[in-house]
Amino acid sequence: MESGKGREYQRRPVEGGQSRPRPPEDRAYRNRKPEDTERRQRSQESPGRRQRPGEDEESRRRPAEGGGRRQRPAEDSPYEKNAGESTERRSGRRRTRPRRRGNIKRIRQRNRRVVLLLLVLLVGGACAVNTIRTKQKEAAAQAAQAYAEQQARKESQEAAKEKEKEEEENALKLADESEKDQWYLKLVNAKNPMTKEDVPEVAAETIDANGYQVDARIMKDLEEMFAAAREAGRNPVICSAFRAWDTQEYLYQNKIQRVMAEKGLTEEEAAVEAGTVVAVPGTSEHQIGLALDIVSSEYMNLDEKQMETEDQQWLMENSWKYGFILRYPLNKSNITGIIFEPWHYRYVGKEAAKEIYEQDITLEEYLGAEPVGEDSDIESDREEKTTEPETTEEKGSREDPGRKLISRPGSSVCLTTV
Ligand SMILES: [Zn+2]
Repeated sequence: MESGKGREYQRRPVEGGQSRPRPPEDRAYRNRKPEDTERRQRSQESPGRRQRPGEDEESRRRPAEGGGRRQRPAEDSPYEKNAGESTERRSGRRRTRPRRRGNIKRIRQRNRRVVLLLLVLLVGGACAVNTIRTKQKEAAAQAAQAYAEQQARKESQEAAKEKEKEEEENALKLADESEKDQWYLKLVNAKNPMTKEDVPEVAAETIDANGYQVDARIMKDLEEMFAAAREAGRNPVICSAFRAWDTQEYLYQNKIQRVMAEKGLTEEEAAVEAGTVVAVPGTSEHQIGLALDIVSSEYMNLDEKQMETEDQQWLMENSWKYGFILRYPLNKSNITGIIFEPWHYRYVGKEAAKEIYEQDITLEEYLGAEPVGEDSDIESDREEKTTEPETTEEKGSREDPGRKLISRPGSSVCLTTV
């Protein structure tokens, strides 16, 4: 480029035929040849066209006239031609150079654009990634919050359910306790004796011609049981039922006096002796009007053989359907404290009777009560034989003559019952 510039500079016409002083650093100027200078000077001195071979000076110098040859335009002169060539070459170079420069510029511009685009893309991508990450974080945070809220709701619901369940259980427990407090589930045994004040007032109702009475509330079920037994061809009879406190007290005190007289014992010693024969007042279920001694009309002794009778077999199989249980079963005396009595039935209601019968348990077990134990293994119906049987007049003052009798009149002669 440096040398090109020098050449261009050399060939450029100079105004006034003098070349401008070149800067000393222009090497091309310094290296110019003398003939170049001379040729330049010559061409400046003779602005006309160069003499052609065979052409005289005059014709050469004569300007073209009329149809003469038109003077070439300035550029036709050798100098101008030369200059034209130079210009053309220069312009060619100029065209080339700017083209290259243009190309380079365009390439650079394109590169810049590409770089710019890449930068934009990079920044955009970074922004997009950042946005995505931010959104992801937000989504994760929202999900975590939603999860936490869900967990809290779940825990709250579980707590509410737990509380509800507890309340239900408490209600059931209360209901159950309340159920077990029902009059027909009253527990009376050696560990749960009644005082005279504790004994419930029994609205006793006479059940037959013999004047036996029971709590009026169990009358319906009792009558249905006897009706069913008769329908099955059985003929059970009642030989003991409700005993008022005074009756039991009378029997007990009467026995004490007799023991004292017969055996010469003190009243205390006689009381203990009498208690093994006659139930101490307050410990007999007969006092609450819910117990009955029922025997077979074919065998009226109160002993274990009673179990073998068909009447008793029927009662033991079916009494639960009417709310009655065999209160002192075989091999349960360690719980009831009473020996096996296959004649003593107790009303407990149909629901409890069913459960007690099906599970083969006692009333104590059903109620979750403390077992009475072997020490109190006595006969609940141990009552002295008497020659003074109760009469209808004595017991059955409330008897309704028009009511259907459960037991046949005169059949209720239990051999060990008063
Ligand atoms: Zn009894």
